[in-house]
Amino acid sequence: MLVVMQAHATDEQVRAVCARIEKAGFRAHAIPGAQRTAIGITGNEGAVELGIDDMEGVQEVIRVSKPYKLVSRDAKDGNTVIKFPNSEATIGGRELTVIAGPCSVESREQTFAAAESVARAGARFFRGGAYKPRTSPYSFQGKGEEGLKILAEVRDKFGLLIVTEAVDNESLELVEKYGDVIQIGARNMQNFSLLKKAGRAKKPVLLKRGIAATLEELLMAAEYIMSEGNYNVVLCERGVRTFADHTRNTLDLSVVPAVQRLSHLPILVDPSHGTGKRNKVLPMSRAAAAVGADGLMIEVHHDPDKALSDGAQSIFPYQFDQLMEEVRQIAAVVGRTVHAGTSVAHTATSAD
Ligand code: PEP
Ligand code: MN
Repeated sequence: MLVVMQAHATDEQVRAVCARIEKAGFRAHAIPGAQRTAIGITGNEGAVELGIDDMEGVQEVIRVSKPYKLVSRDAKDGNTVIKFPNSEATIGGRELTVIAGPCSVESREQTFAAAESVARAGARFFRGGAYKPRTSPYSFQGKGEEGLKILAEVRDKFGLLIVTEAVDNESLELVEKYGDVIQIGARNMQNFSLLKKAGRAKKPVLLKRGIAATLEELLMAAEYIMSEGNYNVVLCERGVRTFADHTRNTLDLSVVPAVQRLSHLPILVDPSHGTGKRNKVLPMSRAAAAVGADGLMIEVHHDPDKALSDGAQSIFPYQFDQLMEEVRQIAAVVGRTVHAGTSVAHTATSAD
């Protein structure tokens, strides 16, 4: 159920409705929109009679027939725009969000090389896994907390916000501590205990679509996070498994307008995992910008043939420069901007 408040409802009226809901043993989620606040009710099974219709400031109480409520456009007018303290970066705003960096944090030198080049080209977010969910237990599993410390240095030195993956409850706490956005990977999209824990975290969550997940399953996974009180959720299309064998996965770009029709949450596209092939990252990035994605996640490595994970789909810094140039032009056609980039002189420090 959803309580739609009047456009000019006061904070006090919103609080009174929330109190009525919570007193009945349910959870109230006040979600401010561009024009009005909606209050989602969770914890109830079916409709409940709380007498809210007649409370001050209430416009209407609607029964939500969809299985998801808080992710739905019914819950919020306008799109979710995620902001970050002390940064101009946003996710879901007019500026296209670009997250770039290596698949994994391998060393300080490798991570800094990628960070320097992606910051210069205009990325505001840096990606790099410190915990890697690998298909084989014998593959590189990530550097763990040591990798997170390198990422925290990247934020300080290059002014990039850090997006990094949590694979379990323990790593989630550390990722929340060191990172700016908590990534939940495709393989964990239906790890419900991890989703609930991410929902109790204080940082935004980037949720990647599972390799065989339907749109509804993706939205329900996001609902798990939001139902715990974390409303800063970003969806990411990263390709799904099909019979096609010319790419690692099939990048389902049509999910972008499909998500945007149903949900106010931002949706990014990851053409690196989505194709698995370096030469397909640029054309599919262009297409993602054209289809209206809120941003891109791109794997970049200064020496991809020696990368410890996903080298075949990682692009060189010079290719990333070209990608940003082209995406910038396409973004303008669909009414969006791309950050111009900042150059940070890589001066040697005692720790280098
Ligand atoms: C990644 O981003 O490096 C990753 C492992 O992604 P996915 O979960 O989409 O496979
Ligand atoms: Mn990867």
